[in-house]
Amino acid sequence: MSTKQKTQAEIVKDWKAKGVIGGKRWNTANDPIVRKCEICWPLNGMEAKIDEPFVHPVTGEKYDHPPAHDGCRCCLTPIMDMDLVSKQFWDILNKD
Ligand SMILES: [Zn+2]
Repeated sequence: MSTKQKTQAEIVKDWKAKGVIGGKRWNTANDPIVRKCEICWPLNGMEAKIDEPFVHPVTGEKYDHPPAHDGCRCCLTPIMDMDLVSKQFWDILNKD
């Protein structure tokens, strides 16, 4: 069992390698503390393409993934791309 927790950067890399994930969603801890966070709260629920950064709606700052600052508790969730999924599906069907 691995004791090392994957960083958000490594997680995004894994998602890309799967070939069916086209995007990512920024999720905050969604609690009273993060609602006062000027960096993270505006990013809550924002979506970006897997290869593109999140652009902060207030500051214009770009973030590929959390953490956005020291003590940031945000994480990403993957967004499936149905075009990529059906491409893989056809690849499987057309295999010998
Ligand atoms: Zn955060």
